[in-house]
Amino acid sequence: MDCDKVILDPDPQKAALAKELFGIDILPEQCKREVAVPGILTLEQYREIQKTLFYNWEMSKGILPVPGAVDYVRMLMDSGHFIKVITSRTGEALEIAQRLCRQHGLEIFDWQGVGHDVSKKEAAKGLDVYVDDDYDKLEDLIGIVPNLILFAWPANQGITLDPRIIRIEGWENLFQHIA
Ligand SMILES: [Mg+2]
Repeated sequence: MDCDKVILDPDPQKAALAKELFGIDILPEQCKREVAVPGILTLEQYREIQKTLFYNWEMSKGILPVPGAVDYVRMLMDSGHFIKVITSRTGEALEIAQRLCRQHGLEIFDWQGVGHDVSKKEAAKGLDVYVDDDYDKLEDLIGIVPNLILFAWPANQGITLDPRIIRIEGWENLFQHIA
């Protein structure tokens, strides 16, 4: 599974940083690149917010898990599922995500940071299920991972889904679907 907007929700902090760095009012649910850029933020501003937040523990330490993520991921692991996180985060940003999960009582052992705008194909080979909030990442995995799930958020609701990708609302439904 993906990390941001599946396990962790950094959007409230992104919105706060948009105000702090650029004086721009943006709602947390608008803090996805496809929604925020262009119109509310420039791509440079969006990248600056991401960089400032993801590489800085002081800024990141208030990031909360997506509701239900900690309990349901733990329940999946307890019932024998192998959990691997495949994220664009690398280096310190990856370490911060791992630390945040641990801080909230979730210890995941397999993480792979692939880098921004890098395909998750290699990393996802062999998985039965893959969950992401980013439709492009899922589309790229058609034919690689048999079960592809779009984690539902307002930001990804208007998309016409390929029939091989399903959209699931919230961790409780996701758990019931996978378990
Ligand atoms: Mg994500």
